[in-house]
Amino acid sequence: MRICIVVLLPFILFATSVFGQIPVKNPISTEEWEVYTKNLFVKLTEGTQYEELANQITVEININDTPNAGSWASDKRMYVNTGRIKLVENEAEYISVIIHEFGHIVLDHRSAESVVPAGGDGGRPDFNIDLSLWEKQETDTDAFVSKILKQNGYDTCAQYQGFEKVLNVKGYKFNKKPTPFQQVFVRRLEIMKGFCIKMDLCDFIAWTG
Ligand SMILES: [Zn+2]
Repeated sequence: MRICIVVLLPFILFATSVFGQIPVKNPISTEEWEVYTKNLFVKLTEGTQYEELANQITVEININDTPNAGSWASDKRMYVNTGRIKLVENEAEYISVIIHEFGHIVLDHRSAESVVPAGGDGGRPDFNIDLSLWEKQETDTDAFVSKILKQNGYDTCAQYQGFEKVLNVKGYKFNKKPTPFQQVFVRRLEIMKGFCIKMDLCDFIAWTG
């Protein structure tokens, strides 16, 4: 076990330097987080089919304690509330938030044939919607996040870990009588767990070494 810890330390330091660190959260500088978000988009989409679209996205960090993020595909605009940032513990979790919103824009979830607004990871659409279509759009977008995390070498478990925190804060997960709207969130969490590929770092070292 001791050998494992000794070997792990440089790996963790290396991983931190490659994957970067999130800006300071206390206090949250909206300007700093906007720049950070923009830079992340560049890093994640450079040289890919999404690069051009990512460059057109307007990102707003809103001072708002509700843990929401959202996007408008038609405007190529997205927002993240400071309340959502407060729940983020690492870069992979934050990427899960912004790439989810970007995913709604990539998949054009406010096109003419769709009446479903891109409500964000916790944002409630405020008009009457087709719940099953909305759920499909959300799960398609969640799958998009998993793909981008994997392609860029990030921990695919970060998506459900971050999402679970939102559900806990909102009380959806432990609600004895969840509404149909809340049930969608709980089902999404279960699907996200399936995206999560766990590998014990010690196993990884044994495997590669
Ligand atoms: Zn969404």
